[in-house]
Amino acid sequence: MKTLLEDGRIRRLLIRGTNWVGDSVMAIPALREVRRLLPRAHITLLALPWVSDIYQGSPWVDAVWLYDREGRHAGAAGRLRLVRKLARGGFDAALLLQNAFEAALLTRLAHIPLRAGYRRDGRGWLLTHAVSIDPRLKARHQTYYYLDLVERLAGRARSLDTPSPTQDRTTPELPLPPEARAQARQQLKEEGIRFQSKLVGVHPGAAFGSAKRWMGDRYAQVLDRLTQSQGVEVVLFGSRQERPIAESICGHMATRPLVLSGRTRLSELIAMIACCDLFITNDSGPMHLAAALGTPTLALFGSTDQVATGPLGPAAAVLNKNVECSPCLLRECPIDHRCMTRITVEEVFQEAVRMLRAGG
Ligand code: SF4
Repeated sequence: MKTLLEDGRIRRLLIRGTNWVGDSVMAIPALREVRRLLPRAHITLLALPWVSDIYQGSPWVDAVWLYDREGRHAGAAGRLRLVRKLARGGFDAALLLQNAFEAALLTRLAHIPLRAGYRRDGRGWLLTHAVSIDPRLKARHQTYYYLDLVERLAGRARSLDTPSPTQDRTTPELPLPPEARAQARQQLKEEGIRFQSKLVGVHPGAAFGSAKRWMGDRYAQVLDRLTQSQGVEVVLFGSRQERPIAESICGHMATRPLVLSGRTRLSELIAMIACCDLFITNDSGPMHLAAALGTPTLALFGSTDQVATGPLGPAAAVLNKNVECSPCLLRECPIDHRCMTRITVEEVFQEAVRMLRAGG
């Protein structure tokens, strides 16, 4: 197979981004590698609206186009509108980080001459560069899934061939404009955060299902103890659907934290997490955001696999009891949820204190 990602071969590249916040963060090293390989190309990222804020200020893409599949691109007429827009984009090639058949079909219908991605979802015949998944990826972090695709399309040295790849190529990072952080700080002040002590952000939900969630009453105990012994301020984040989880935690707490569940856009969430001194979280999209921002991140793992989707960042830690049935990757626990119940309040509290002290 001729290498696709060669400098000078592609002037305009379309990248179809991934659909979920966590996946989008884990794909950042791949984007960074594309930018390094094609320094002169104009790179357009096609992303769903709810993840597009991740790429605000990204040095790895030149433009972000929205795929509003529940709005103006909904239905057959909407899809055709998108195809026409892609066709007018003058792209030489499309790189599909997303796995769906539809991603390949849209770029084929838009007559983008070179179309590359993993051979999945029955779409190999639609691609000019269909890549098979390396079986070694099963035992690697998901960042490699995206990075390996790029490296194989470039015919370059592959991270999978080296026992310990260098950090800078596999760790996601989220650049944040200074004004975004200042604005978030101001917003938090208006919500009552005084910034006279350390700020602990918490994401107690997990959109995938309850199996990933540590118990709300335990979060409440940890947060009360951190408030009383360390004088921290606390803010709870999450989606609108996760607000009952936050309210349940508040109901168990002696002091009421700031609850922003359902009240932040993704761009605001990112900037506010960057203002936190510690982020305590279940395995979730915000966990990946926090780790990539460099915010000290304490992740509680049970039903999922920290080797595959653990937080990657300069200051990330995981608590995981590694019970015999883990990782099950189920949405709901069919037994007694021991992977989470065995994580104690004391352990989380002690680790949180250690991380707060390490942060200075
Ligand atoms: S089956 Fe095991 S790993 Fe899965 S949620 Fe239940 S206790 Fe956790």
